[in-house]
Amino acid sequence: MNEALLKEYQDWILKLSAYQMALTVIGIDKQTVAPSGGAAYRDERSSILAGELFSIETDPHQVEVRKQLLREADLDGDTRKAVELYDREISHICSVPKDRFIAWTKLRNESYEAWHRAKTEDNYSIFEPYLKQIIETSREMYGYRSSTAPLYDQMLDDYEPGMDQKQYDAFFDRLKERLVPLIQKVVKAQPIEDSFLFREYPVEGQKQFTEHLLSYLHFDSSWGYENETEHPFTDFICENDCRTTTKYRLNDVSSAILSTVHEVGHAYYEHDCDPAYDGMILSLGISSGMHESQSRLCENYLGRTLPFWKANYPALQQIFPTQLNGVSAESFTNAVNASKPTLIRTEADELTYPMHILIRYELEKGLFNGTISTVGLDRTWNQMYEKYLGISSSTARDGILQDVHWADGSFGYFPTYALGSAFAAQFMNTMRSSIDVDGLLENGHYDELMGWLKEHIHTYGCRYDASEVMMKATGEAFNPDYYLDYLETKYRNLYHLEY
Ligand code: ZN
Repeated sequence: MNEALLKEYQDWILKLSAYQMALTVIGIDKQTVAPSGGAAYRDERSSILAGELFSIETDPHQVEVRKQLLREADLDGDTRKAVELYDREISHICSVPKDRFIAWTKLRNESYEAWHRAKTEDNYSIFEPYLKQIIETSREMYGYRSSTAPLYDQMLDDYEPGMDQKQYDAFFDRLKERLVPLIQKVVKAQPIEDSFLFREYPVEGQKQFTEHLLSYLHFDSSWGYENETEHPFTDFICENDCRTTTKYRLNDVSSAILSTVHEVGHAYYEHDCDPAYDGMILSLGISSGMHESQSRLCENYLGRTLPFWKANYPALQQIFPTQLNGVSAESFTNAVNASKPTLIRTEADELTYPMHILIRYELEKGLFNGTISTVGLDRTWNQMYEKYLGISSSTARDGILQDVHWADGSFGYFPTYALGSAFAAQFMNTMRSSIDVDGLLENGHYDELMGWLKEHIHTYGCRYDASEVMMKATGEAFNPDYYLDYLETKYRNLYHLEY
């Protein structure tokens, strides 16, 4: 083994991670507490750091170092995998001519502004020309890669390595087949009383409950910190330093609670990776779908259960005795699981949520395969909502303009949200057969549940791909029936539907 070469590679990683850390801290600060007046000045300095990072990442000498390393026969498996992952990522960045990359970044910024204006003015026609250009320029960007795979397959693979249209088609067909009739039955069933969730819940009280919740989740100040933002997220500064955010809504008490459980699920995923991978690309999550599987497992498969609320509801009721007067833990749990087709994806319940994703998947596929145009896309959007959820929006704001992803050029991302929920169901099935999930939830042993996930999923970081981790954790290949069985059983019981 050429030790000098290995040392050069390791020094490069450390330098890379130092710049990434600096930019992450600046990014989190910008979204949480930084005064708006400093924005332009901060952005100017940040872009210099980003430029430096770009040069370090794409350094041709380092490309050579990695090539030579891969030729070393006794290179250990972990390092080999890491080098391959860096190469995959960097070859995509390097393939684009620098001037075109800068133009692409500029277009995305302009498109974001146009989307924001269009949403504020509730007018899709402001955004349409930008969307058209974003799609055309995406085509150009992917064209620089040497792949012969269909364009949309390449996009899907960027967020979920190994997944393509053929596999997603099969997945979503299965979902359509079983969920559309189930949703229709739930719509006709007796609605669940949930009006008490939407009474007035002063934010101070909600924050007080969050303190209790974070301690229940064992998300403590030795490795994590929660802040507030408009759109909740999780980011990782370095080992033992995870930042999450939440958003408090005055008239929706469960929103901040479940979003906290969700984001802390993301935090556990990367925090509990094998320390041997510290500072390496291997310490990151495998894919968007796998990351979402961990956050959704915590939010939906743990955070929406009766044992979870048996443990936490008394504290909430104590803070809000008037709002929750006469509401039992059982009624509260039923309310946070109530299902009804609605227009906004991020506010959708667990059952109708995958339909929002299916719609976006079919639209993206059509946009890149040339069967759907950006002109009139707002109407196509509404037709899809009518078809799958039986509702349609009278405003573009609550329709096609609700998500930021397309304005940013992130195509192929949405499907991972549904895939994550489905992965989670399969993990949960194995977890339930191995440990007493309900007992641990009810008795405040959330850390032991996270311990199971750590041992079977988190520890691997991205050393193995999603299908390998699925096999290691559950002993079988990914099977969406676990997800569909779970949803069917849950909603049939909740709404007393006949079998
Ligand atoms: Zn998430």
